[in-house]
Amino acid sequence: MFSSFNSKLITQNSTLLSGGLYIHVPFCRKKCPYCDFLSIPYSKEAEAKYLKRLLGELKEKKRLVAKRPFNLKTLYVGGGTPSVLSLESITKIVEAVKEAFFRDRPPVEATIECNPESSSLKSFKKFKELGFSRLSIGVQDLTQRGLDALDRPHGVIEAKNAIELAKEAGFEDISIDLIFGWPTQSKEELLTTLDLVATLKAVTHISYYELTIEENTKFYELESLGRLEVLNQDTLWEFTEIIEDTLKKLGFTQYEISNFAKPGHEARHNTGYWKNLPYIGLGPSAVSYLPPRRWMNVRDLNLYLDPGFGEIPIEWEESLENEESFRETLVIGLRMVEGVSIKGLEMRYGINPFDYYGQTLNELMEDNFLGLENDHLFLTKKGRRVANGVLSKLV
Ligand code: SF4
Repeated sequence: MFSSFNSKLITQNSTLLSGGLYIHVPFCRKKCPYCDFLSIPYSKEAEAKYLKRLLGELKEKKRLVAKRPFNLKTLYVGGGTPSVLSLESITKIVEAVKEAFFRDRPPVEATIECNPESSSLKSFKKFKELGFSRLSIGVQDLTQRGLDALDRPHGVIEAKNAIELAKEAGFEDISIDLIFGWPTQSKEELLTTLDLVATLKAVTHISYYELTIEENTKFYELESLGRLEVLNQDTLWEFTEIIEDTLKKLGFTQYEISNFAKPGHEARHNTGYWKNLPYIGLGPSAVSYLPPRRWMNVRDLNLYLDPGFGEIPIEWEESLENEESFRETLVIGLRMVEGVSIKGLEMRYGINPFDYYGQTLNELMEDNFLGLENDHLFLTKKGRRVANGVLSKLV
């Protein structure tokens, strides 16, 4: 569907503002108890309505983007679980996306998320044919007790099979999502998952997230009632050390607090978020950022699907001042292991972080939470362990 990467054209357009396109698919087989992303159980009727609205929104966003010197480079179809959609629907979405945004050149990276229970060789081959270059598979854990604790609708074997199928379909960029710190997880269980990760040679990228208890989730409700046995901070730090050390030995380089990649397999779309570059989001609850404006599509799926509204209703919107945007770029950028370029910040915002933060920044450096090397300010290993606390001083 997308022709091969045209590097000459990309170079010619490099002076344009560049960014990514995100499409939110709000359906899953069932709701996971820790998840606060917008998703409802899949149904054919809802899929048909969603498709109609999304294709309408594409035209809306195309008009918006056409008014700006904006160059979309990456595509990410996430959710929810995009792989629960029919292949016909996914094909229609990709055709419309190509027509609206990638007529002259294909995206440099096109990712689609899928879950083991809705994976098949047929669908993966179709994704490849449509031009997706990268699969992101929601594995979450490789022990049955972990999958049960997270109430996942698939088993360990299905998860491993999905990775094999991705390889068989010809994908060279295969990312898996994993979660550590699930209720009552033991060190042995973490090691079992990591031992199995070591056997998954086709995997080129791992997002390894610590479980966080989000409001409006089943886990939040259980924790409030004292019925969720969460791990203590020392155990979580120990697990973090084990994960970082093991993945390093397996040839994965940590390039963001929760993300690890084999050389050359870093996620370009997500790196755009960490560099605070613009993006366009389609679908319910999707956020768009065309500086200085940022806004979120309505979260209520019924309102999103209601054709009576014409244009997609907005949940909220804001306009970022230069200083706000500067702080945000610094704080998000510090999530990357390479950190943030001081010169880059000065060029983009006309602000030097040492002048701006004064003593606060000096103290964070003296306490070895932040480091400075080759013009880049970065979180040290000590700083990464307490990243939220450090970053909250800079927000
Ligand atoms: S499958 Fe993913 S998006 Fe869907 S409910 Fe579970 S964690 Fe959330």
